[in-house]
Amino acid sequence: MSTIAFIGLGVMGGPMAAHLATAGHRVTGYDVVPAGADRLVAAGGTAAASLAEAVTEAEVVLTMLPQDEHVEAVVFGDEATGGVLRHARPGALLVDFSTIRPETSVRIAEAGREHGLRVLDAPVSGGERGAVDAVLSIMVGGAEEDVAAARPIFETVGSTYARVGGNGAGQYVKAANQLIVGGTYALVAEAIVLMEAAGVDAAAGLDVIAGGLAASRILDLKRASMLAREFAPGFRIDLHHKDMGIATAAARSAEVSLPMTALVAQLIAAARAKGHGALDHSALLKIVEDLSGRASAA
Ligand code: NAD
Repeated sequence: MSTIAFIGLGVMGGPMAAHLATAGHRVTGYDVVPAGADRLVAAGGTAAASLAEAVTEAEVVLTMLPQDEHVEAVVFGDEATGGVLRHARPGALLVDFSTIRPETSVRIAEAGREHGLRVLDAPVSGGERGAVDAVLSIMVGGAEEDVAAARPIFETVGSTYARVGGNGAGQYVKAANQLIVGGTYALVAEAIVLMEAAGVDAAAGLDVIAGGLAASRILDLKRASMLAREFAPGFRIDLHHKDMGIATAAARSAEVSLPMTALVAQLIAAARAKGHGALDHSALLKIVEDLSGRASAA
């Protein structure tokens, strides 16, 4: 059992930290929003009043933060307060579960090494449900021995994990994951618009589609709520917009052309621009409907 600092106790980090405490680790959590620690404290963990307090004694530092700038702020800190690099003890393992740019993960790993830390990028898939049920799928970049050291943590919060390469590799796989998810939502939305416009039974249509080659987890989990125009998050359009930015930038740095990804990124950008950023990413349906002049009921 390890002494763990968990930074970022939001939708995902909150339940993940609580699972680690329940499993018997000594978990100290920190979030700029103090109420974030409630679930962890109920599970037997501790709330810290500052990042430094959480990190100083930790053998393992875990971060689950929204975007690059939050991870950079937590890791590098500022002159006055410092970040994980200043406060963590040498030899500590830093595992970043956030979805950020691969380049940022690499930069953090290099800076971590200079401070004697071992660093992994470990973005996740599975959503809030996956975090609550501890069945996340975890895509890990970093040294093999560090991945092995983090194994008890991955096995507590997830059901699948794989090392996919060196530092930053996890983020590339997460970008690949997000472009598949976004693209699938866009095509399911188009299928719904087509079937409804043609006057066929779209619910029965999606049921039969879900039994054939076009079956997917998204169809299984989301077809009923999409048909009902229920778009409560879930995973917000705002976050998927951020992820499509990562995917398109990753394509640029890998010097490859991903035309479908670019198109889906624009549809998600439209959803955000039209004020749907706080809705679930299945609300891409609203944009696809708009393109055909079919206003969504929701
Ligand atoms: P969230 O906004 O619910 O949680 C992030 C938490 O970080 C918040 O509680 C916020 O207060 C805290 N925070 C921000 N800056 C901080 C700082 N400087 N110090 C301490 N705490 C700070 O976001 P989330 O949904 O938990 O997502 C976290 C990451 O996981 C994102 O990168 C997201 O893309 C990824 N992700 C989310 C989901 C999902 O379904 N929500 C699924 C897979 C991956």
